[in-house]
Amino acid sequence: MKTDVKFLDLQAIYRQDQAAYDAAYRRVMDSGRWILGPELEAFEAEFAAYGGRRHAIGVGNGLDALALALQVAGIGPGDEVIVPAHTFIATWLAVRQCGATPVPVEPAAGSYNIDAAGVAAALTPRARAVMPVHLYGAPADPAAIRALCAERGLLLLEDAAQAHGARHRGEAIGGFGRMAAYSFYPGKNLGAFGDAGALVTDDDALATALRARRNYGSAVRYQHDSEGVNSRLDELQAAFLRVRLARLDAHTGQRRAQAARYAEHLAAAPGLLLPAVPDGDEPVWHLFVVRHTRRDDLQAALKSQGIETLIHYPKPVYRFPPFAAHAPAGRSVADTVCDEALSLPIGPHLTLADIDRVAEAVAAFCRGGA
Ligand SMILES: *Cc1c(COP(=O)(O)O)cnc(C)c1O
Repeated sequence: MKTDVKFLDLQAIYRQDQAAYDAAYRRVMDSGRWILGPELEAFEAEFAAYGGRRHAIGVGNGLDALALALQVAGIGPGDEVIVPAHTFIATWLAVRQCGATPVPVEPAAGSYNIDAAGVAAALTPRARAVMPVHLYGAPADPAAIRALCAERGLLLLEDAAQAHGARHRGEAIGGFGRMAAYSFYPGKNLGAFGDAGALVTDDDALATALRARRNYGSAVRYQHDSEGVNSRLDELQAAFLRVRLARLDAHTGQRRAQAARYAEHLAAAPGLLLPAVPDGDEPVWHLFVVRHTRRDDLQAALKSQGIETLIHYPKPVYRFPPFAAHAPAGRSVADTVCDEALSLPIGPHLTLADIDRVAEAVAAFCRGGA
């Protein structure tokens, strides 16, 4: 029995740079500062610079980042916010948290993402904001969606939780919207060792509002000029994230090499749909997702060979009970995507030899040999 190919291995990520993470830990423990201190300040400056933005604001997690962005933009009850049908549920929950109504858009043809045409078709006079998700690390038609939002006076908030470092026509993801939200959940391309998130923006007033809102509506201690929440990125996670950020481009390079290897091996696999990369897109491959009509059999065949895969996501968000009222009557594009999609292992814990092994197993299944 060959060794397993794990889908994710955070222990391995830690071990690869153990001395640096341990030094970060030591530094924070010796500093006696735990919340809103120098590590967060440094990480915010480094993360803003990484994306070419004026401001980064660290918060408790990605869901809070999305919800806080909508709140400071004044989105509330009666407002409609355009969201993808096919995404992680957090995108929709953030809309609901401000009392607004999510309006789903189906994935565009040949893509896992929404596009500007789909957004335009979903707009009503109540639409106030658009939240494209750069799913799996692939840009979601950001230039065209930005143009549409400008024309229609809509807030553009990017859900970049899976797309740290992605680009579209040379422009950094996270700079298309007035704000972009990131998650640093451990499994994300830029992951902490606990929960964490951030917002980026070029808008000074929004940045000030976000900084106050994450900290009880307070810019000065015990002075509360607005309503707020408690959602802060703590010093330990900020220190760990600084280490991981310094490795991000190298890790992204590994992901790109692995994705290219999959594409090369699997281009001719019968019945398998590979992820398309439109001209001008530079995805960061948070996930490498293929489609097959016998997806469950493919997953079982891989499992029997010690290869771990996952399904992102098993259902469109409107098929879950909290959002059932938003479900379309018939079978949707997102339903089909969710029935056929399979995420193959990818990431800096794997070697190209691991990728070859997975690709061979997938190809054998597609040829009817498994
Ligand atoms: C992970 C994720 C989130 C939420 O991030 P958390 O840090 O887990 O709260 C939001 N949107 C998308 C697309 C995600 O993948």
